[in-house]
Amino acid sequence: MVLSAPSGGGKTTLCRQLLSTVENVEFSISHTTRPPRGRERDGFDYHFVDDGAFDALVAEGAFLEWAHVHGRRYGTSRREVEGCLGRGVDILFDIDVQGGRQIRRRIDDAVLVFILPPDSVTLEKRLRGRGSDAADEIERRLVTAQKEIAAAADLYTHWIVNDDLQRAASELEAILRGERLARVDRRELVKEFLGGGAI
Ligand code: ADP
Ligand code: 5GP
Repeated sequence: MVLSAPSGGGKTTLCRQLLSTVENVEFSISHTTRPPRGRERDGFDYHFVDDGAFDALVAEGAFLEWAHVHGRRYGTSRREVEGCLGRGVDILFDIDVQGGRQIRRRIDDAVLVFILPPDSVTLEKRLRGRGSDAADEIERRLVTAQKEIAAAADLYTHWIVNDDLQRAASELEAILRGERLARVDRRELVKEFLGGGAI
């Protein structure tokens, strides 16, 4: 499941909540060339790498997708994704719309969810309130937000308006649980049922 939103839209908050309420889902820890901010930890929020290390990973084909976002580079490790999917665990991507487009091409059954802040004034307030980005960085993220929302319009199939956090979180949980139910192996269920006793 891919989760995208303009910066400050609430992806990180909603991802954390989803991971704490739903079983069998893991977060895809991206690599980034941006420095850690606030309480972020290496190997937990991101793998923080320098430009040289990122170049080397690109050259060896380590990324399932990567993109330039807000002047830095971010990428999803192929190995990490294959590990999760191989174990039958769902994987949650907190990535931008360029990444969502690439994942859609490479993972047939990816579900693309877009988190929309209620309006642009609220988005700006939340970005400033988070207190983690400098003023010029916030300006840059607000400009990118308009482009990202427009680019997501035809690509993302599930949309959540993040006005009330608890409602948004339960909608996100419902999407994941609903997708799982839609993919239950019904032939296997019927076979087991019919094989297990007389009707
Ligand atoms: P993103 O990861 O998309 O950049 P965050 O999850 O960091 O966004 O959220 C940005 C800020 O907005 C954070 O300070 C967060 O606590 C706050 N926030 C997120 N969702 C809501 C909400 N529904 N109501 C009020 N504040 C919110
Ligand atoms: P931030 O710097 O706020 O953590 O993230 C900035 C943007 O980069 C967000 O839109 C986030 O979803 C996106 N992002 C994080 N990891 C990846 C990744 O691996 N690939 C892509 N394409 N975008 C990412």
